Amino acid sequence: MGERILLIEDEEKLARMVELELRYEGYEVEKAFDGRKGLELALDGGFDLVLLDIMLPALSGMEVLRRLRRESQVPVIMLTARDTVVDKVTGLDMGADDYVTKPFAIEELLARIRAALRKRPARAAEESAPLLTVGPLTMDTERHEVAVNGQQVALTRREFDLLHCLLEHKEKVLTREALLDQVWGFDFAGETNAVDVYIRFLRSKLDEQFGIKLIHTVRGVGYTIREEEHP
Ligand code: CA
Repeated sequence: MGERILLIEDEEKLARMVELELRYEGYEVEKAFDGRKGLELALDGGFDLVLLDIMLPALSGMEVLRRLRRESQVPVIMLTARDTVVDKVTGLDMGADDYVTKPFAIEELLARIRAALRKRPARAAEESAPLLTVGPLTMDTERHEVAVNGQQVALTRREFDLLHCLLEHKEKVLTREALLDQVWGFDFAGETNAVDVYIRFLRSKLDEQFGIKLIHTVRGVGYTIREEEHP
């Protein structure tokens, strides 16, 4: 079975032409003629790639892309009639993988499609490993969920980001300055007590709540997250 491509394009003649060519190449194709329907189909999933026109009725291509990227990393190639740098830059900034300017030769579109589909395995691997774990704690970075022994823990955004940073450097000691820099950013330079405060929040929601010890203070240095040692 061929890869499934969603074509969101309101120029029906062009859409039919592209569809025929893609089918000839062995792809399965579904079409949507406006942005709203296209977004709906794209969010339903099951597509290996989306071809997305920018000028669309109901919902613009940029808006479709913006909303799609909140939930999906499916490769998107923008189709733009306007050969403006702004559209391309905006589209790529917003997470489009590539763009093709109309009118395009079908060979060029096919080459871009093949390239975008080739890039997928690396991304798929990334997506299949969104879990960070330490001992009984798991963090699903995609769903933004944290659980201890399978039991969900509600964290604020900042607590989540701090925990995320610790987990990404599991078993390594992070200084307060490093944590502050990575989680809070520049504006908070010097306010390292914010780190201590949020470490306390995390300990109370995780370690104390579940009777475990994951977050360790390394005196004079900073903090680390690791599984408690069993003697
Ligand atoms: Ca259009």
